[in-house]
Amino acid sequence: MTSKRTIKIFDTTLRDGEQSPGASMNLKEKMEIAQALVDLGVDIIEAGFPIASPGDFEAVREISQNVRGVQICGLARCNEADIDRAWEALKRAQSPRIHVFLATSAIHREFKLKMDKQEIVERAIFGVRRAVGYCDNVEFSPEDAARTEPDFLCQVVEAAIKAGATTVNIPDTVGYATPAHMGRVIRTLVERVPNIDKAVISVHCHNDLGLAVANSLAGVENGAGQIECTINGIGERAGNCSLEEVVMALRTRSDFYDSDTRVNTQRLVPTSRLVANITGIQVQRNKAIVGRNAFAHEAGIHQDGMLKEPRTYEIMRPEDVGFAKTDLVLGKHSGRAALADRAKALGYHLTGEQLQSVFEEFKLLADKKKEIYDADIAALIDERIHGVSELWSIGSYQLTAGSGQTPSVTLALKHGEEECSQTMACGDGPIDAIFLAIEKLTGVSAVCRDFRVQAVTVGKDAQAEVNVELDYHGKLYRGRGVSTDSVEASAKAFLNAINRILGSSREQPALAASGSK
Ligand SMILES: [Zn+2]
Repeated sequence: MTSKRTIKIFDTTLRDGEQSPGASMNLKEKMEIAQALVDLGVDIIEAGFPIASPGDFEAVREISQNVRGVQICGLARCNEADIDRAWEALKRAQSPRIHVFLATSAIHREFKLKMDKQEIVERAIFGVRRAVGYCDNVEFSPEDAARTEPDFLCQVVEAAIKAGATTVNIPDTVGYATPAHMGRVIRTLVERVPNIDKAVISVHCHNDLGLAVANSLAGVENGAGQIECTINGIGERAGNCSLEEVVMALRTRSDFYDSDTRVNTQRLVPTSRLVANITGIQVQRNKAIVGRNAFAHEAGIHQDGMLKEPRTYEIMRPEDVGFAKTDLVLGKHSGRAALADRAKALGYHLTGEQLQSVFEEFKLLADKKKEIYDADIAALIDERIHGVSELWSIGSYQLTAGSGQTPSVTLALKHGEEECSQTMACGDGPIDAIFLAIEKLTGVSAVCRDFRVQAVTVGKDAQAEVNVELDYHGKLYRGRGVSTDSVEASAKAFLNAINRILGSSREQPALAASGSK
């Protein structure tokens, strides 16, 4: 038997994934995801685009300093300032990688960069060389490669490898490729670039036509050794290649691809949930691999076959991707050790202090609701650990509402040690009245773009989880609140989003980075 090829998994959830509208994450959240990606077994984490904003720089620097056992990558355009800033953020990483990119397609050359082919080649060589001056692990991406003329793409890739690039990444930036097309692009590079054996070929596919995973697999079939992807496929527009799908395709069909990855697939579901909870972007029920229905066999004839022999209808086992066989239930008498154990199984790394604070909340919840499920625990931890620095928090509220009557609310909010309250009779319903009172007290007025209530678990005593999306000066901010009282959960979610608005306005404004692959 020949030994299988190991395909490198390059996760860009924290860089390209974060570009999903409303998915921006704070430093604590990024650190939590980075640690989960290490547990998952990815090879490279793209932690951000350091020159894009002070927040991005800080995230790449902190992840470089504190996360071990994985390569950490930072993105840069082909200019001195970008590359120097990327290195500044990456230099303390155990194994740093600088990723430089430059658009190569005719439309980008002509309209965006206003550079001719020769200038593009020279700029690419300049960028790679400058990065190589800092570290020997350098990735080069010709942005919009899938729409670049094949001859010119070969020329740029050869020059980048000659200048020292050890990975050449081929992005389908606009999601235009089809599997046969993407496969041909990679095959052309393998056949025509004379020094191609000196670098790993990577693919970076966008999902505009729903083909990102298929295109990535076509890349592997034709010689790519690295796949760039994100958890749950999050990213701009229709997103990126979904990590869990591409990894399970390679694992399930290793007979065909004769390749595998280092990913610990039992961590896929916990990591997917973590990213969904942190970004507020839930996966649809029928999402392959990690969706709630991914392993639900409802059709009678399938059930009959499943009972006789699961392999009749099942190509993967739910436990292989990390679905727990049974949802363990905790209750009032469960101790700290049991809670710590479940938190760990769900993918959280809690410090002693965090565990103590979550345990206190857990006890309060156990008084209100008899059975506490994994989803309850995840919701509690997310609220305690991922909450933004709470400038404002809920004190108490009183509400009178009824049909045909203007709702009246008295709301008390805490701002540090101070408590202020407001009574208002307004709004077209109790939730609206609470939102208006919060706006009045905090002095922040925003447009509510989305408001969703869902039950965290089953049962009438289930906790309500509310997700809101607020538009503040054209930027989206999300907020999340959980409580057994759905009005309180709504107030918490709204206030959480307001806290994010206030928190981010204290940061320096983001530098408008032209172009990102
Ligand atoms: Zn991209």
